[in-house]
Amino acid sequence: MSATAVHPRVSTKRTPEVIIVGAGFGGIAAAIELRRHGIERIRILEQAPDLGGTWFFNTYPGAACDVPSHLYSYSYAQRRNWTRLCSMQAEIHSYLHEVARTHGVDRLVQRNTTVSSCSWDEQSCRWTVLSADGETREADVLILATGQLHQPSRPSIEGADSFAGHSFHSAEWDHGYELGGKRVAVVGTGASAVQFIPEIAPEVRRLTVLQRTGNWFLPRKNRRYPTILRAAIERVPGLQALRRRFVFEYTESLTLTIRHPRTLGRVARARSAAFMRSQLKDPEVRARAWPDYTFGCKRILFSSHFLPALQRENVELVTEAIARIEPEGIVTADGTLHDLDCIIWATGFRTNDFMFPMEITGVGERSLRTAWAGGAHAHLGMTVPGFPNMFLMYGPNTNTSGGSIIVYLEAQASYIRQALQQLGAHEAGAIEVLPEVEAASDRALQARFAGTAWTGCDSWYRNEQGRIVANWPGYMREYLEQTRALNPDEYRLIALPDRAAVAPV
Ligand code: NAP
Repeated sequence: MSATAVHPRVSTKRTPEVIIVGAGFGGIAAAIELRRHGIERIRILEQAPDLGGTWFFNTYPGAACDVPSHLYSYSYAQRRNWTRLCSMQAEIHSYLHEVARTHGVDRLVQRNTTVSSCSWDEQSCRWTVLSADGETREADVLILATGQLHQPSRPSIEGADSFAGHSFHSAEWDHGYELGGKRVAVVGTGASAVQFIPEIAPEVRRLTVLQRTGNWFLPRKNRRYPTILRAAIERVPGLQALRRRFVFEYTESLTLTIRHPRTLGRVARARSAAFMRSQLKDPEVRARAWPDYTFGCKRILFSSHFLPALQRENVELVTEAIARIEPEGIVTADGTLHDLDCIIWATGFRTNDFMFPMEITGVGERSLRTAWAGGAHAHLGMTVPGFPNMFLMYGPNTNTSGGSIIVYLEAQASYIRQALQQLGAHEAGAIEVLPEVEAASDRALQARFAGTAWTGCDSWYRNEQGRIVANWPGYMREYLEQTRALNPDEYRLIALPDRAAVAPV
């Protein structure tokens, strides 16, 4: 594009009509950013009956964010009265509600609206968005803010349907089911299981924890803040900002250990191992719980409560693989039948699916599935060649292993807003990333994984071909730098239907 750069603060001459899919932290961030810059014609389509995204759905006991709230919050909506370092689900959900209300975007959310397909029309330079209820909506711009962690994954295991007891996924917690006194199995020991197992263990009669892979742990008690500390954060000027800065740097240091597994990673691993040894007094449980992969390859888990819970009298840690499920319970590979009343699937999400099964078709009716046949990729996780005026939030390679996704989402909201300002300033119909730019940035991004801990095991960050499609390979700071100012030379503008091309490259 030969267009000169548009200063981010320059107002648009033509404000586009925008549909945002998803009213989680991403969709809300985008709507706030656009409205602040005069783009008002926005609809947010949300499949759930409420905004919140993952913080609406994940209500399991003990659900919290393991990223401290001073950083896991919008930079422009800092709250000084968090009740603990890492807030619980209800507090985070109410925070998002409050921010959305304050910025006037909660009223833009159309609830109970599941988008089934989005198709680009080259003639009109518009997206047509179809929802499951049969309604059709049109917009100039489509922002898919569905993220990576919204489709519960349940492994297909022989006999699963034959189970006579009760079962549910951790992201669809059945609060109506009384766990007290029951024989319960939890399949999976990821970030979710680690939070709810210590909560339910004292309640249930027997808890069987089926672990496929052990994890690396670091300590976190996450008690409520003492009154004096809360008062200090609320009243001492600058203390909140200082804590945010500290948490930012601390999480960057986690990334440092992941990027350098043979040096700093070893130091961090030794710290984790010492903590785990101090917690795992029972040598048998210790041997079973111990991870066998590079520190940082999977999410590092922060909990001072999970490993002690595994050593309770009524808890058994099982590491044999699941062979099949029978009406009475789970049979493991060693032939043992674990009699159960309830199975809780803590088996994570279909992360590689991103917004699918939504059908997305771009230029020439090419589907996004075809474009992503070898694995999802997008320039800076946001723009895909052949899909003009489409932007992703928390898209490919923008997950963070240690940092705050909200830092990324704010950066994305600002970048997308700049793209829309290009449209306005040039009175163009659409903006599209150049294929060679996207391909080069993808190559550079993938090359950054070489030698890092992320390549040291199989994880949900990878797709079936082994390509890492979920994670950003570096620091939050780098992502902020790369997204701070949209480079117009990386994009082409497409003329409005009734005009000649603005400046094809
Ligand atoms: P997860 O981290 O993907 O963990 C899934 C667990 O299920 C793993 O232990 C996995 O074992 C196991 N599993 C999967 N399929 C299995 C099978 N067929 N048989 C046996 N075990 C199986 O999912 P999650 O705990 O829900 O967390 C997902 C992500 O959500 C996290 O990584 C994190 O990004 C986010 N999250 C964040 C927080 C937070 O506090 N910020 C809290 C919860 C979740 P393998 O390790 O062997 O695959």
